[in-house]
Amino acid sequence: MLKGVDIGGTFVKVLWEDGRREKHRIFDFKNNRDLLLEKLREVILNGHPSGVGIAVAGFTSRSGVISHSPNIPVLNGLDLRKLLAGMDIPFVAGNDVSIGAFGEWYYDYRDSEILVLVAVGTGLGGGLVVGGKPFFGVSGTAMEIGHHTVLMDGRRCSCGRRGCWEAYCSSYGLSETYGKLGGEPLKDYQIIERAREGEETARRAVVEFKKFLIRGLMNLVHILNPDQIVLGGGVIEGMKELLGDIEKDLKNVVEDLPAGDVKVGYSTAGEFMGARGALAFIKSRTADNTF
Ligand SMILES: [Zn+2]
Repeated sequence: MLKGVDIGGTFVKVLWEDGRREKHRIFDFKNNRDLLLEKLREVILNGHPSGVGIAVAGFTSRSGVISHSPNIPVLNGLDLRKLLAGMDIPFVAGNDVSIGAFGEWYYDYRDSEILVLVAVGTGLGGGLVVGGKPFFGVSGTAMEIGHHTVLMDGRRCSCGRRGCWEAYCSSYGLSETYGKLGGEPLKDYQIIERAREGEETARRAVVEFKKFLIRGLMNLVHILNPDQIVLGGGVIEGMKELLGDIEKDLKNVVEDLPAGDVKVGYSTAGEFMGARGALAFIKSRTADNTF
């Protein structure tokens, strides 16, 4: 049986073809490379899968080499082929959001010709599916949309550059906005909770978040002309009902022609978005027999 595996900073999440889900905590081994690799190998091979899709938070090459994982630095340089050497198990790997986007198309949006996934959590990631195929770019790093500039010389981003979309639309971006508006240092979910309770500063922080969200989406519509945008990730899920009608607000600021064709929806995959995409990817590759 096939399974999808999502390697994140705190947990490795697994989704089996029959719907079984697993969550393995890896945070404790995060700084010990040997222990972490041993644990990953164990989780990936556990239950004798017939094939595995692997999603990784970070820059991952199309051949399965993790070049840079900001959240799990000990994985930098890891070649997944070597990790699974000797097991003769078919696998595919890629960036978690690129693969997550394929899962959106595969399970929920098969009619979409050009689908864009925007996932807002700790950071902001993007994925693109064109004609039912995930778009990875030449190196496997396409759609790093969190690091496209929305404000010249703006805020410092986690990548070191300034004015990136992620610096405004992410958990830390929301916290920073709240702080700049006079709020105390709080986590994203605490700010969202306060906004829900009607606190003025928190509500203004959410309005600011939405302003930047729309700005980035507008750029994506003008660049890619998608028919489907899917929003997901922990921060978006938390504030969904506070964001109002994103599709309408987006259509108001983009050109009429692409506005007429674009729809905005929300992911239903929750925290298993990466694992679900990884499963969809290995399923599709197995069906086509293309590795
Ligand atoms: Zn950046």
